[in-house]
Amino acid sequence: MMQKNFEYQVEQFADIRILRYTVPNFSELSLKKKLYIYYLSEAALWGRDIIWDQNNKHNLWLRNCLASLYHCVNKNDSSRNKLELFYKRVLFANGIHHHYSTDKFQPDFTIDELSNWIKDLSDEQIIALSCDSVPELTKRLTKLLFDVDYISKRVCQDEDKDLIIHSANNFYSEVSQEEVESFYHSIINKDDAKPISYGLNSRLIKCNGSVKEEVYCAEGKYAATINKIIFWLKKAAEVCENNQQKLLIETLCEYYQTGDLSLFDAYSIEWLKEQFGEVDFINGFIEVYGDPLGFKGTWESLVNIIDKDETTKASLISENAQWFENHSPVLEQHRKEEVSGVSMKVISAIMLGGDCYPASPLGINLPNAEWIREKHGSKSVSLQNISKAYEMASLSSGIIEEFAYSEEEIKLHKQYGALADNLHTHLHECVGHGSGKLEPGVRSDDLKAYGSVIEETRADLFGLYFMADKKMMELNLVSHMDVCKAQYNAYIRNGMMVQLARITKDANIEQAHMRNRQLISSWVFEHGQQTNVIEKVRKDNKTYFVIKDFKALRHLFGTLLKEVQRIKSQGDYEAAKQLVETYGVKVDVELHNEVLERYAKLNIAPYSGFINPKLLLVKDESEQITDVKISYEESFIEQMQRYNNDYSVESVGIYEL
Ligand code: ZN
Repeated sequence: MMQKNFEYQVEQFADIRILRYTVPNFSELSLKKKLYIYYLSEAALWGRDIIWDQNNKHNLWLRNCLASLYHCVNKNDSSRNKLELFYKRVLFANGIHHHYSTDKFQPDFTIDELSNWIKDLSDEQIIALSCDSVPELTKRLTKLLFDVDYISKRVCQDEDKDLIIHSANNFYSEVSQEEVESFYHSIINKDDAKPISYGLNSRLIKCNGSVKEEVYCAEGKYAATINKIIFWLKKAAEVCENNQQKLLIETLCEYYQTGDLSLFDAYSIEWLKEQFGEVDFINGFIEVYGDPLGFKGTWESLVNIIDKDETTKASLISENAQWFENHSPVLEQHRKEEVSGVSMKVISAIMLGGDCYPASPLGINLPNAEWIREKHGSKSVSLQNISKAYEMASLSSGIIEEFAYSEEEIKLHKQYGALADNLHTHLHECVGHGSGKLEPGVRSDDLKAYGSVIEETRADLFGLYFMADKKMMELNLVSHMDVCKAQYNAYIRNGMMVQLARITKDANIEQAHMRNRQLISSWVFEHGQQTNVIEKVRKDNKTYFVIKDFKALRHLFGTLLKEVQRIKSQGDYEAAKQLVETYGVKVDVELHNEVLERYAKLNIAPYSGFINPKLLLVKDESEQITDVKISYEESFIEQMQRYNNDYSVESVGIYEL
């Protein structure tokens, strides 16, 4: 079981927080299921070098250089901490460019310091890095790290420039944007009703003057790594939970063998059909954000298991969708006669790999191919244990203490905050969005640009209103009304203040969810002012919003829900505009500055990533596997170095600079 003082936040460096997530109930799974997870996890970890190489062609070589220096530089060298910091940043970003901004990192150390470190390497180590001498290695690293104009950005988005030539990713070689566009223009068949994802799994290069694809597959680029992935996937297929999983894994392996993209589509369709197992995974070249032209998929993987408790709660809510609809405070004519809830799968991550590691997504909605989504649907899941890790880390970050008014508010949050937030999300997703109906003749896009904010407002209000309903206790989803109080406190605190920390000085709120949260919070604050529902309090020169009357607040949420539903049902564009512009867009400048100042003092790094758990096979004397153990002890750098050593078969190229 988990030790009591388990730390969700492990460390913080530069602009990065390193967190740890846990997998609930892993030890209680059957051995067969644990093995299935283990083999899929091996397949997830093996692809790591692909993403490093895709991000930039020098990355694998640079990683080897930094690893050698990190090991050799004298521990007493006072500049060594600068080397360690740089190494960690590169490890976190899977390469030399920042994972989010995609800008090349600038070292804190000097060229002199670098040169001194290199002198600590042995001749063998220099040769192992494909260099003949200290000066040669120094020259190469100096160019790579200190020339700010060289490979300055991984993904160039500047439309005035050639996006391909100015992007430092490794999806293209010696081709211009025009050549890429005309290459794909010539092979894409626009009339194809089931188009493959052209270019998704290849590098486009120029060879003897002609442009061609180098396909990522068992017989092409990244063959060594892809063969490892296939090996572990095949082992997984032997212990999977059902025939559908076997079929989809076999299809995926077939695709990896030749890189035929129509097989990737076939695999995606089989993957969609698999709804019955507890364990699921993604593994492949999937998201295209790393390519400014959106053709090339970065390699990623995730192994996950269903979170039964949360999925049961979500199902309970969706099964009662009609009850919620019938009791919703909206106008009679805006209620649906027949409503069905959306069933939602809540999952826990077990292993993050490739582009999902160490920075992890919070939810997944795949596949990406539009025609498959239309014809076969999509899988949409949220990663419960990843959001829990964020939530738990925030408990120790000081945010609650800074922005909550009283000890009681802090206590309520620590006790019920996470539970309450999950329930609110389930209500929002499973019944909120699906509720209500449009009046005859009204179209869903009548609210134009305000449509999405109004829609999110509506779903959030639906959740807030029903959080406090006796029905939630009847369904055993809420044990105590304090759960609801915790949610109301958190919602108002965030909507009025905390979320403003993400807005830069003097800017407006742009993002739809942030707009709707401020809209709701400031509307109920204003409309409850005369009866003192929420009080704005100043204490020690700090502002707080304190809920004085929870019952009245619930009533206000209901009143606003009725109005927002009316706006949607009648397509009342003017009212939507008025509501959003008045309450959701502009920020209170004075309050905003105060929040920025208070938040900055907490010193919370803006980006987060995760350490994976470590899975270990347990064997008896006759080498029979008897168990798979999970542990959470590795540090960030220990895990990264283990991956460097254990999951690397690509030959590391040394390229001209
Ligand atoms: Zn929503």
